[in-house]
Amino acid sequence: MKIELLDQESEWFIDKPTPLAPAKYVSIAILRRTLDYAAFRTEADKYTNSVATPASKKANKIIDRALILASKQKAVERRHESQIIRDIMPEADECYLKDELCLKCPVCALNGGIKAEKGAGEISIKSRLLYQTAFSILPFEDVVESITFNAVNEKTTKTGQALGERELVKPDTHFISVVTLLAPTLDELKFYLYSMLNTTRYGAETRGMGVIENKILSLVFSDSEQFSALRLTMDIYEELVEEKENPILTYDNILEATHNGILAMIRDGNNKVLSKDEVIALEQQLRKAKPTKKWIEKMYTDAASFREKILNGK
Ligand SMILES: [Zn+2]
Repeated sequence: MKIELLDQESEWFIDKPTPLAPAKYVSIAILRRTLDYAAFRTEADKYTNSVATPASKKANKIIDRALILASKQKAVERRHESQIIRDIMPEADECYLKDELCLKCPVCALNGGIKAEKGAGEISIKSRLLYQTAFSILPFEDVVESITFNAVNEKTTKTGQALGERELVKPDTHFISVVTLLAPTLDELKFYLYSMLNTTRYGAETRGMGVIENKILSLVFSDSEQFSALRLTMDIYEELVEEKENPILTYDNILEATHNGILAMIRDGNNKVLSKDEVIALEQQLRKAKPTKKWIEKMYTDAASFREKILNGK
């Protein structure tokens, strides 16, 4: 799968995935925008996940922010990655969360997992895909709505009394997230980005809710983790929301604020930071791309040698 903007960085990447990963990080800042009502909460809880955070680094003010927990993002994106593999290679071993991981496929090589194997004892792969919590840019009270629901009697299909309330994140809510790949191959990075951009269903309920549009805000190559999702969220809040009467959030101005904030500070030294224009071009190239069977087969071969190294304790 050719992605020109990344192919020109091919020197930076390791050739094959390795358990003793060198300190090479690709950090991706992602804008996750809801296109519908969404339920982001812990199972069996009617409350949206939230936490008190500083509004910005300038203001001496604490606000509550809605969250998409890292574990939720990871589970949804991993399922989508497996789905892509199944579509292209239906003959591959079954692999699904959470108890049937194959630990042979490219998705397992990147996301990790544990499995008891006949003759080999327990095989365990550490995840090289590191997720951070996603934070809403705006305060909780601006992005979450309590909705009253009625119970429907299944026999009569008539609506009964109002049963209660639940909290939902409103459409057009902007969350900032950071995902870091530790020592990925070039193919692994392409695969993650391609899959992530095509993942659309997040949240606690599977039907009709939680449609999200993902957009890339930045891509940084470095020898350590350089920035946090919270810091980036605070920078964006400071530039676009604080002291503004009617703050307007769009992809364009969030992209601008991302590159003016923390990214401007790390744009030197040993880091390579893609520019705004490069980020836009990269996303266009990824959205037009399509993994081929041959390309996925090569990733399987790399995953197999990775597995061998782990089994041999290298
Ligand atoms: Zn697998």
